[in-house]
Amino acid sequence: MVRSGLAALLAVAVLAFTGYAGWTYVTTRDQRFCSACRRPVHAASVTHARVDGREAVFCCPACALSERRQSSQRVEILSLTEFTSGATLSPRDAFLVRGSDAHTCGHGEYARGEYDRPVQVSFDRCSPSLLAFASRARAAQFSREHGGQVLPFGEFAARYP
Ligand SMILES: [Zn+2]
Repeated sequence: MVRSGLAALLAVAVLAFTGYAGWTYVTTRDQRFCSACRRPVHAASVTHARVDGREAVFCCPACALSERRQSSQRVEILSLTEFTSGATLSPRDAFLVRGSDAHTCGHGEYARGEYDRPVQVSFDRCSPSLLAFASRARAAQFSREHGGQVLPFGEFAARYP
């Protein structure tokens, strides 16, 4: 009786562990790679969106907006991340710096071309760099140091082709 009780307890423990491990895997798996380009998602530019009703994680705002432009799916940006602080931002209040010299998605990456010479990748869905900030002042300060154009997110998203 004691033995079967112990076996049952052990079975419950094993089930609980595998259940937890499986759940953790499923919930974190999609967090680590961008839903669109499969690049690793960086904490400084992670962008959450709803794509045709399903939540998706993108590596940066530029990639999420590329998805909206290129796919027939409905892409609604839910949250952005401030590049300098890592704080979560509501797209409604966020400002963007477009085309600065800072990026998180490996822009300017070189591919090995013919004869093993480096060839610059000419198209990148995350390019030009698009980084989010909590206020116009913070975005402006960043663009003074790193270049780029400051835009309110809402205005930019509305006229992004
Ligand atoms: Zn991406």
